[in-house]
Amino acid sequence: MRILKDFCGILICIIVYTIIILVACGVIFLAIKPISDEGYFDFDLMVGIYLPFLVLSLTSHFACMVTDPGILNKQNTVEIYKSLLEEDNKENVCTYCNVWKPPRTHHCMTCRSCILNMDHHCPWVNNCIGFYNQKYFLLFLVYTLIGVIISEGFLFCKVLANTIEGIEKSRFEAFFLTFTIVVAGVFFLMISSILSDQIKAIVNNTSGIDVLQHKNFVKRPLYVNLQEIFGGKLSPLWLIPTPISGKPKKVVERGYEAPKTQDNS
Ligand SMILES: [Zn+2]
Ligand SMILES: [Zn+2]
Repeated sequence: MRILKDFCGILICIIVYTIIILVACGVIFLAIKPISDEGYFDFDLMVGIYLPFLVLSLTSHFACMVTDPGILNKQNTVEIYKSLLEEDNKENVCTYCNVWKPPRTHHCMTCRSCILNMDHHCPWVNNCIGFYNQKYFLLFLVYTLIGVIISEGFLFCKVLANTIEGIEKSRFEAFFLTFTIVVAGVFFLMISSILSDQIKAIVNNTSGIDVLQHKNFVKRPLYVNLQEIFGGKLSPLWLIPTPISGKPKKVVERGYEAPKTQDNS
């Protein structure tokens, strides 16, 4: 387990957990509970649908935060990535860490390390997103997005019920309800934007940082790209924040080399 000692990153993670738990409390006690009490639906059933997404979102976030994303050092570059070393050009050496960098490895100034398959450094999870934790990051985005959509649905039902039945709300309840709706809405916009960037990168067999550096990579079938991220063939484990079983493949199999075009040949 690894926790990056970055004050801002840790603070942002604490804020993320606090906001997610506050929104969940708002949804359960200000929307699901009162609507259930009025007999519109069953409280246990609705909480039973809502909570699993909350738990999966938080566990995916935690796993993403504490997992080594693929830090390279002199020892594991030789031991773990031996097959890559045999095959690749070894001239690409990081000037900060002085380790050989396989293609698509980048040096992160926040982590002060070279990260295999670095996508970007994410302050929301206080970690780099790389080869070993991109699965957790995607699961966090997907489950949080589903949780936020369900939250907004319940909150909308509550506002509708209040309006139809003319229910008077206390100032605290009105404030907390508005706070929950606004925060869930902001979360929806942010997460859907990040998720759409991730989907584009996966479809194109690239990463956030490679897009910024205008690097081209060989197009592969989407299923192959997904297998690399989720660590193996399609299985129920893809949906659960468990460690990936796959090891980095050789460069040719990973489709790293940009195809020669008239512009770069
Ligand atoms: Zn480095
Ligand atoms: Zn980093």
